[in-house]
Amino acid sequence: LSHRVPEPPGDDEVARLARTANATLDRLERSVRVQHQFASDAAHELRTPIAGLRVNLEDLAMHPQDTDVETAAQAALRSADRLEGIVADLLLLAQIGTGADLAEPLDLTALVESGIRDHQAPSAQNHAIPIRPRLTPRVRVQGVPAHLQRLLDGLLDNAQRHATEAVEVELVSDHDHAALTVADDGPGIPPEDRERVFERFTRVDTARSRDAGGTGLGLAIAREIASAHRGTLTIDDSPSGARFTLRLPLLAPPSDGSPGTR
Ligand code: ADP
Repeated sequence: LSHRVPEPPGDDEVARLARTANATLDRLERSVRVQHQFASDAAHELRTPIAGLRVNLEDLAMHPQDTDVETAAQAALRSADRLEGIVADLLLLAQIGTGADLAEPLDLTALVESGIRDHQAPSAQNHAIPIRPRLTPRVRVQGVPAHLQRLLDGLLDNAQRHATEAVEVELVSDHDHAALTVADDGPGIPPEDRERVFERFTRVDTARSRDAGGTGLGLAIAREIASAHRGTLTIDDSPSGARFTLRLPLLAPPSDGSPGTR
């Protein structure tokens, strides 16, 4: 690597210092590479809706006689919506890491219940796919409500979008963790794609996801939110369909033994 300092042999202070310096430089270089790749992926992703906008506006400006104004304007609006969606997701991604000071004690059960209600509302996109909950009452964690809602939203969206009949949501807790599982009965995710789907802008089934308005950022955002909460988001083995599990540290119970209320 170009920036490495020479490492003298042996194990004295200078040698150790040189090794530490090189390890730090390696990490920095990796991080710069990742940022670089991300900027280039983001630019690439923004290009498609911008091209869509341009084509429709050009038709309207240059061939007004041959262009159906309403169709072209609707198509341009869809491109603008898509641009807005990508930009909002990119902003959210940048904010997640700095959200720690917004964390507060919250009832994860209540948050999941309200998320499910939103997804079953008649105005929701795939509301016809039922969501069957099995939730342990009053599971408490420390978290940023808006970010956890967004994480859950992404999982429920994906599950309802891919399910054939139903989605199952389970929330349990052991002595120090909450585990939330969202499972659907759709085509599932092949083992070889299970890490890739968490990468930014990855879509396993490109045509379908793009049609459905996905940005390919949903699961990247979801995993980032889980990590910011000192938790994990993983895909489990499942005989059929896809099954995601979010694990979060439980809020320590009050030490004074104050009674719970029902
Ligand atoms: P998108 O916004 O495109 O949905 P995501 O990051 O949420 O992006 O998901 C990435 C890809 O992972 C999706 O395009 C899809 O191919 C796959 N995927 C996500 N959830 C599921 C699921 N429940 N069942 C099958 N495939 C899924």
